[in-house]
Amino acid sequence: MSRSVLVTGGNRGIGLAIARALVEAGDRVTVTYRATKPPDDLPAVPCDVTDPAEVAAAFDQVTREQGPVEVLVANAGITRDGLLLRMTDEDFEDVLAANLTGAVRVARRAAQDMLAARWGRLIFISSAVALTGSPGQVNYTASKAALIGVARSLAWELGSRGITANVVAPGLVDTDMSRAMSERRRAEYLAMTALRRTGTPAEVAAVVRFLAGAEASYVTGAVVPVAGGLGMGF
Ligand code: NDP
Repeated sequence: MSRSVLVTGGNRGIGLAIARALVEAGDRVTVTYRATKPPDDLPAVPCDVTDPAEVAAAFDQVTREQGPVEVLVANAGITRDGLLLRMTDEDFEDVLAANLTGAVRVARRAAQDMLAARWGRLIFISSAVALTGSPGQVNYTASKAALIGVARSLAWELGSRGITANVVAPGLVDTDMSRAMSERRRAEYLAMTALRRTGTPAEVAAVVRFLAGAEASYVTGAVVPVAGGLGMGF
């Protein structure tokens, strides 16, 4: 079955692996990007999820080119790490704007079409640290923990119309984001990871592919860790 899929931040990292996995599953997939375009073979729309006009335009383009979005993967995310006493309002608000408000904005737009179709899959990319907490990441953990509340509320709001809403919580995955981390922090995370290694974007994508697929039809409101054992127990 080919579905119309939109992956935010699908131009690189985990988002790109998700897009690739869904293309392989036979879906029609578009990714969003800001400055860096994805590889040429992947349809892409420019979209900063913090900008309502860009989100509206991106959905219009996707709807025209591949049909109304049936599977949304809200993956775009940023970090602005720092201990709370040094964290500015701007550091806090920028992270919430991208990771939380941006995800809610795209979910709301996608839900319009999903309600009309009486079918849809909303998948939010959170993080294992949403529930373990993480020093220096008050902004990031707040945004990622909030996505769990968002997904579970949407599971209730939209469930009777055949729409599921789930959360994937990756642990330390090898991308630009985790490579920007200090060696010391990285070692601390690995020490807390039962499998004692970083994950690959493809390992996260495989779980997203399952949640987007027919076999996950009775899964909603779930938080699925893909974290090698980091932060077990959602
Ligand atoms: P990267 O930093 O490699 O990629 C982040 C992606 O998000 C990029 O595509 C980026 O676009 C996009 N993005 C950021 N802000 C915006 C915005 N305002 N509007 C649109 N797109 C935006 O990170 P990862 O691939 O590692 O992370 C993907 C998701 O997984 C994130 O939500 C992250 O929090 C989460 N995650 C990652 C973990 C890891 O260890 N890597 C662990 C747990 C969760 P652009 O190229 O334009 O900057």
